Amino acid sequence: MTNPFEGRQGTVVPGFVDLQVNGGFGHDFTSKPATIWDVGAILPRYGVTGFLPTVISAPVESALAALAVLAGGPPSGWTGALPLGLHVEGPMISPQRIGTHPADALVEPSLELVDCLVAAGPPKMVTLAPELPGAEEVVRRLCAAGVVVAMGHTDATAAQAESSFGWGISHATHLFNAMSGLDHRAPGAPAAVLGHNVLTSGLIADGLHVAPAMLRVAHRALGPERIALVTDAMAATGLGEGQYVIGSVPVTVSGVEARNGGGRLAGSTATMDQVVRTMIEATGCSLEEAVTMASSTPAAVIGHEPHLGDLVLLDNDLAVAATAIGGTIAYRRAQT
Ligand code: ZN
Repeated sequence: MTNPFEGRQGTVVPGFVDLQVNGGFGHDFTSKPATIWDVGAILPRYGVTGFLPTVISAPVESALAALAVLAGGPPSGWTGALPLGLHVEGPMISPQRIGTHPADALVEPSLELVDCLVAAGPPKMVTLAPELPGAEEVVRRLCAAGVVVAMGHTDATAAQAESSFGWGISHATHLFNAMSGLDHRAPGAPAAVLGHNVLTSGLIADGLHVAPAMLRVAHRALGPERIALVTDAMAATGLGEGQYVIGSVPVTVSGVEARNGGGRLAGSTATMDQVVRTMIEATGCSLEEAVTMASSTPAAVIGHEPHLGDLVLLDNDLAVAATAIGGTIAYRRAQT
């Protein structure tokens, strides 16, 4: 294959894969799933070549509509970062750890809901709270259908979380955020993740959702093969301050912080190139390690085999100079 970045200076790394994208550039997937293609078209600007569009807790029709958008394929002539399946985050999550999810949308684990999702998709990933009644059957049913089941928005004790790994839960969604704590006498879900041998975890390394000291803990305990850096990007990503939504929840963005009416973080405004830089700054890890956490690890989490031509050209400041998808340039920054 020829070098798509011929004649340009920089470091070539594999394309980034973001497992948690709620929207961006004014678009919110939970309320307007057809915008998955609009966002995908812009993501190469940030080095993203593949992503999981994510819908948060909402009536099942939201997830079904998003699955239908994906099944329908892109508009003709479309190019961009490829949606690699749907991430359904909630509604089978803990009322104690809702984050910004709307409380009235939450449901207990339901085989009926799972069968409905599987028949329409299936989704690539489902995030749920394993301590809820009926979770075991639901996890087993999802795993049997080939869905990656992630623990998240959970109040599980470490013991409850560890049991759920035996049912097939293989991943944790945004480690530390919307989870029970890392208390030394009452260890919660993060302790089960950090103490496990193979479980992988998403990590919002925007410098805001997780303090740098905890990014270092995650890096030390899990290593780059078990951390998938995610943005958890919402509609304001790529835009400025103002009023947005995530699902049915109004969100105010001030500076780079997106918060709901209760003051809770409501997704991020981060981009993948940013979280790569933040992870390096916070942990002192190498570029190679950070890129592993942004590309091959998240791809492996969902069993995705990236195209060899999915590549990013980074400049000396680790900003994205160009992105290629399938060996073809998808984004090229204007040269100054
Ligand atoms: Zn979340």
